[in-house]
Amino acid sequence: MSARDFLRQDLLNWENYQVQPIRGRKMDANESPFALPQAVRQELADWLLNEEDFNIYPDTDNTVLREAISAYYGFGMDWITVGVGSDQLIDLLCKAFLEPGECIVVQSPSFSMYQTSAEINHGRAVSVPLLAEADFRFSADDIIEMVNKEKPKLLFICSPNNPTGCGIEKKDLIRILEAAHCVVVLDEAYGEFASSDTLDLICEWPDLISLRTFSKAFGLAGLRVGYALAHPDMIKAIDTVRAPYNLNTFTQKAAALVLGRPEYKERIGWIIRERERVQEALAVLEGVQGFHLFPSQSNFLFLRSDVESLGAKLLEKGLLVRAYGGAMASYIRVSISDKDSNDLFLQAIKEIILA
Ligand SMILES: *Cc1c(COP(=O)(O)O)cnc(C)c1O
Repeated sequence: MSARDFLRQDLLNWENYQVQPIRGRKMDANESPFALPQAVRQELADWLLNEEDFNIYPDTDNTVLREAISAYYGFGMDWITVGVGSDQLIDLLCKAFLEPGECIVVQSPSFSMYQTSAEINHGRAVSVPLLAEADFRFSADDIIEMVNKEKPKLLFICSPNNPTGCGIEKKDLIRILEAAHCVVVLDEAYGEFASSDTLDLICEWPDLISLRTFSKAFGLAGLRVGYALAHPDMIKAIDTVRAPYNLNTFTQKAAALVLGRPEYKERIGWIIRERERVQEALAVLEGVQGFHLFPSQSNFLFLRSDVESLGAKLLEKGLLVRAYGGAMASYIRVSISDKDSNDLFLQAIKEIILA
């Protein structure tokens, strides 16, 4: 007998999330180009040298971190729970809400973890297509129609959407909340880069969850920490399936320190201005060899072109971007990084498209 003889039938051909090896300038995962602030580094170092022994389990309630999040947003502690990345919270939501065979509604293209988590938890995903002709804008009508037809437990809306960059309009979100009888998960992993403000909706709608992360605007991708803001009943539902001690002591401390720092507002502003600079510089390519740059409210850009293997050609020039296969083969997603990398990207893509 082997492991395969015992493995769940539906996992026999399961494909794990593929992470590409790091080569060249890393512009493929929407990470922050900024270093940890020196003051945070110093505080962590002092804490390690003089205080923390790591010999006891972490605080299972993640109190210090939830206090920092509470202070940052002015939300009560019982409106907050934290996960090992918001990826873990997506999994916990599927665990908590899906009976076997039940479905979630997602958009396509969007973040693949929603479907992955639904399937791992014996559910399935149904998707509402986003249309390239409409610059991948959300259609509240299409979403409402799908929700009414499929009666999902969970509706995931990624805003701004990864990989397309478009955000949902607040009035559309409200229409969906009014019409949808399911839990609405708003994945705001890139919310800091967009102008919309959904915090008031969280207070008003007990079925709405905002998922956020330290991995993008706050530059802590390496520590894996995300959080959910929602009505205390929703938080309790998520905590029902959250394992004890899910976040380690170091991560709790570091994330709490980061949220208290003043540097991030300025850093986020810089990334938005840098995105605008790159967008303007790419305008000269519009229409050449099918080039089109989609609007973005995020820290990445999404574009298409008729040039074959654009991702591989950029990699030859030392730039690692996110490329896709199948129906998405003519698209790439590129992260806004430090100025030097962004300039190299502009130079490289102009050379390739105008060649
Ligand atoms: C990056 C990302 C996340 C989150 O990540 P964690 O690192 O797990 O917090 C969640 N949703 C989307 C759409 C993302 O792009």
